[in-house]
Amino acid sequence: MTTPLAFTGHDLDRDDHARADPAQLAQLRARDDARLVALDGVMPRFDGNALLTTDLSGVSKDAELVYLGLRAGAPLFVAVPPEGDMRQAVTMRETMMALMQLPPEELALFGGARSIADWHARHRFCARCGERTQIAKGGWQRNCESCKGQHFPRVDPVAIMLVEHDGALLVGRGKGWPERSYSALAGFIEPGESIEEGVKREVWEEVGVRVRDVSYIASQPWPFPSQLMIGCHSYADSRDLTIDETEIEDARWFTREDVADAMANPKDAQSFLPPPRTAIANYLFEYWLENMA
Ligand SMILES: [Zn+2]
Repeated sequence: MTTPLAFTGHDLDRDDHARADPAQLAQLRARDDARLVALDGVMPRFDGNALLTTDLSGVSKDAELVYLGLRAGAPLFVAVPPEGDMRQAVTMRETMMALMQLPPEELALFGGARSIADWHARHRFCARCGERTQIAKGGWQRNCESCKGQHFPRVDPVAIMLVEHDGALLVGRGKGWPERSYSALAGFIEPGESIEEGVKREVWEEVGVRVRDVSYIASQPWPFPSQLMIGCHSYADSRDLTIDETEIEDARWFTREDVADAMANPKDAQSFLPPPRTAIANYLFEYWLENMA
């Protein structure tokens, strides 16, 4: 596999034992070599081809900081911004710059820092009683003093799946996508579902195809705001499609040769235009061509 999965490969020691120890956290925060990932809200700031980091001298004692862990032995933090970010950050210029110019471990660090900082900013009030919550466990929890509720950072699982029938792959496109662009079908896992059940339901809902023998391939954190993309493979028994046009605009079967053409010529393939290399769907297509097709 030549495609690294974007937002994976962080080089942090998450040092989780320190999180529950306020004295140890205070010591880490006071260390001369402690660093802060400098974000603009929850967007990245750059220092050449790396993320900009600063010392903690400008950080007030009361500022909400998340302890990200140790990086090359030095404690690393990120500050919680005043507000969360509900913009389409994935398409913004700073995000594109991060995807293009940061090495994998820096991109993974940004993704994690962005997700956790954004979660705090959007969860300042208790979902049970509505009172203010306080940061706890080095930023890996929020507590409500009023109702004693505990709140934990969210990760939202999304199944994204290859659907195969007799050497062909099923791909779909959403409304408003660039012309001729197709990708793997995907959807959020719902409460009460296994990953396998989520895959079967999503494919059934979107294109009316029954799939079986669901297997896991790879996963990718996607920090806009906090999805975990779970890449799967499945087999279909038929190629008959009943497309739900409220969910997707089109779905089609492509042969192995079509998929190989798309992957080899991402800008001008005859068959279809594949998802960008930063998306796990691109990795899944490549994996399929190399290992399964
Ligand atoms: Zn509460």
